[in-house]
Amino acid sequence: MRGEAPFHGPTGDSTTITRLWARPPAVPEPGYNRIMSAYPEAVFLKSAHQPSQFVPDEGMEVAFAGRSNAGKSSAINLIVGRRQFARVSRTPGRTQLVNFFVLDERVPGGRRLVDLPGYGFARVPVKVQRHWRALMDGYFAQRRSLTGVVVIVDVRRGLLDLDRQMLAWADAAGCAAHVLLTKADKLSRGAGAGVLQAARRELGRSAGVQLFSALDRTGLEEARLALESLMPVPVATLAGDDALTQQ
Ligand code: GDP
Repeated sequence: MRGEAPFHGPTGDSTTITRLWARPPAVPEPGYNRIMSAYPEAVFLKSAHQPSQFVPDEGMEVAFAGRSNAGKSSAINLIVGRRQFARVSRTPGRTQLVNFFVLDERVPGGRRLVDLPGYGFARVPVKVQRHWRALMDGYFAQRRSLTGVVVIVDVRRGLLDLDRQMLAWADAAGCAAHVLLTKADKLSRGAGAGVLQAARRELGRSAGVQLFSALDRTGLEEARLALESLMPVPVATLAGDDALTQQ
């Protein structure tokens, strides 16, 4: 029956895309996020256990940091528009890896998202904590392509010392920063607004800050805009695109 055909998810063919535009499913089905992805070319590149394993330092990258269990993986998956892009953690604080993903090739050398290892997990052995610090020191000291840092903070806990440390590292590296106060669905509107106001007062102009929820999608568009503004495609490139299409 025309217009009543079930949505089977993306197959890559234009028929599916046309059908999707014509009548989006009321409840997204598996694969829906992929076709609506903000970064359809996004792919996992590599995990690094030490600085010598980092991917080539070219193009632009934005790093996502946060305490273990704050909701970093969930935020990344929603912002990028892919389920299971970053793994939602099973053993918080145990995986001390820097994960590199390429988002697109809109600048020479590409634009990347970097998932930094979570921090602040109480039961992590001292050796693992030392490794984390050395990895972070190496990362922030080296990466010339790092243009921005997104810090994920559980809105119920607010900014804590290690979050402030991340923001200080971002500042020392000459990067802009943005804070996502996530799990906003867990607080009442008034309580969330209070935490947001306190964070704004503390951060001033040093970083952007917003409420976010991976569960009910609060602040999703604002977060995507913030990510874009942290790794802006140069106007010259956009103008070049126009010039090419006009030829
Ligand atoms: P990570 O360790 O920082 O990467 O955090 P995860 O993304 O793995 O999330 C940790 C836990 O918090 C998981 O059980 C998630 O389902 C949950 N979670 C993440 N984001 C949200 C959110 O916005 N709202 C709620 N209610 N739970 C969330």
